[in-house]
Amino acid sequence: MEYLGIKIEKPKVAFFDFTCCEGCQLQITNKEDTLIDLLSLVEIVNFREISSDKNNDYDIAFIEGAISRQDQIDRIKKIRKNAKLLISLGTCACSGGVNSLINTHDTKDAVTEVYGKHKIDTLPVKSAKEIVKIDFEIPGCPINKKEFENIVVHLITGADFSFKKYPVCVECKQNLNHCLLDENKICLGPITRAGCNAPCPGGKLPCYGCRGPAEEHNWPALKQTLIEYGFTLEQIQEKTSFFNMLTEVTSNES
Ligand code: SF4
Ligand code: SF4
Ligand code: SF4
Repeated sequence: MEYLGIKIEKPKVAFFDFTCCEGCQLQITNKEDTLIDLLSLVEIVNFREISSDKNNDYDIAFIEGAISRQDQIDRIKKIRKNAKLLISLGTCACSGGVNSLINTHDTKDAVTEVYGKHKIDTLPVKSAKEIVKIDFEIPGCPINKKEFENIVVHLITGADFSFKKYPVCVECKQNLNHCLLDENKICLGPITRAGCNAPCPGGKLPCYGCRGPAEEHNWPALKQTLIEYGFTLEQIQEKTSFFNMLTEVTSNES
């Protein structure tokens, strides 16, 4: 890479997946209109979905997925040692994501329920930051492609980046969607961080809070509204715990 005639080293970047669907990595590979620009900014040295190269000399490592096995704990610790910057990519890495639902059951019982007698090696699910120090988290199930690119540019060039402070409802209203609360559905858009452009309510699916809490939110008011709409605390908690991204906010009794 060259800037004002000066040669600048491209940072070496690696992607690693753990327990997940790999949908966040797929988002990056699918972004064909800007993929070439991204590749001009970084040198990808390890990315199983797009390349057979496996190089352990990297500056920035993106971790996708939750941690649910001992060998994954050992592996993420090694990656941490190699990387100058370690980034959680997507909700599974940030909070355990949908995988963390297993933690609401006895792990053995849950595995037997799904896999019968087939032997599955698993531990209670953890987020990446519960195992190693994480330098930056990119939430979303999946991540928002544009936001990912903005964050990469921010990390590499120091360009300004900040997450949206307001909740998903703002983007939902900008898109002129009909509010799902009026259809008697539990939608967590009022407390969830915007930046995804509200694809779920746009498709008539309530927001489950995959991007975590908005800085500006009013959980007590939403909870009270949902109770007035006739939902039980159990029904509300089932939604708020789905991605394990809102637990900190919604477990505070207020
Ligand atoms: S955050 Fe969602 S899309 Fe990304 S890997 Fe996990 S389950 Fe897949
Ligand atoms: S549908 Fe959900 S995100 Fe959209 S305005 Fe209503 S509560 Fe907010
Ligand atoms: S609307 Fe909610 S659940 Fe859907 S992508 Fe946005 S934050 Fe995630």
